[in-house]
Amino acid sequence: AAKAAGKGTVQVYREDLLRQAQERLRLENHLRHAARREELRLEYQPVVDARTGSVAGLEALVRWEHPSWGTVPPGRFIPVAEASGTILVIGEWVLRTACRQAVAFAHDHGVDVAMSVNVSVRQLQADGFVEVVADALATSGLAPSLLTLEVTESLFMAEDPAVGAVLGELGALGVHLSIDDFGTGHSALARLRVLPVSELKIDRSFVRTIGSDGDCGPLVTAILAMARALGLSVVAEGVETAEQLAALRDAGCDRLQGFHLARPMPAEDVARLLAGQPGGDQAWRPPAEGAA
Ligand code: C2E
Ligand code: MG
Ligand code: MG
Ligand code: MG
Repeated sequence: AAKAAGKGTVQVYREDLLRQAQERLRLENHLRHAARREELRLEYQPVVDARTGSVAGLEALVRWEHPSWGTVPPGRFIPVAEASGTILVIGEWVLRTACRQAVAFAHDHGVDVAMSVNVSVRQLQADGFVEVVADALATSGLAPSLLTLEVTESLFMAEDPAVGAVLGELGALGVHLSIDDFGTGHSALARLRVLPVSELKIDRSFVRTIGSDGDCGPLVTAILAMARALGLSVVAEGVETAEQLAALRDAGCDRLQGFHLARPMPAEDVARLLAGQPGGDQAWRPPAEGAA
């Protein structure tokens, strides 16, 4: 009987795997056409200066509006796109669109707009990535110093000499490099000194644990101290409460990002936000503490 049950379990498991594989293949097929069919769009989440409360920049976050499935979150389709290689097409579209949009915002509102774009390891490993970045800058007219490429910690720290060389070339172009989801991977701290990194983004799992006692906790405090010693700027992700905002600001975190400050939003809403800042970057403030 046990044997029969075991066999049944294997059977169910197989069917499950098969279903998953089919599902993945279906997603992959649709994804391949998504960029061409204009189903992709970008939202932009403001990154806020912790001291002044003004918008310090925007992070571009890709969205997929499937005609019948509705909005597919990036957490579901980016891994599939990475596995299939479609991320190269999607990533290039994201990069070029974000650069063009940053220039359009700057043109319309008379302010420099810093833009952050997430980049997958597959893009860094692909031939010609540095040329794609250089061309996105040249054709949009965005100054390299206004572009930040965000790379997740796990892949950034992978000791792949080819990736290291590409990061060096990107640094030489004058774009900024940021380590996303910092604290979740296994950092070789020595690499932080060697590679042209200028920013760390503290993963939101660390921000989530900040409570009402005004203390950032030992890990965030240590990351901030290390960043300061290395001359890196720090962004905290996932700031959801006024208490977290206050604790991070008081601990000297440079910039903040999270639902408490602003959610990712379409370009039209960013335009409204920037239009409300007549003095360049002075008028907009995050919600008053306690007003969340
Ligand atoms: P990420 O780069 O770490 O982006 C931050 C994610 O946290 C975004 O999710 C954002 O909407 C969400 N977030 C921001 N503030 C808060 C908050 O206060 N609370 C909570 N719970 N979440 C917050 P999103 O847009 O779903 O993106 C998820 C991930 O997908 C991104 O994480 C990034 O790794 C990836 N991704 C998004 N767009 C792209 C892209 O164009 N290219 C690549 N390669 N990856 C992308
Ligand atoms: Mg990011
Ligand atoms: Mg992140
Ligand atoms: Mg993240």
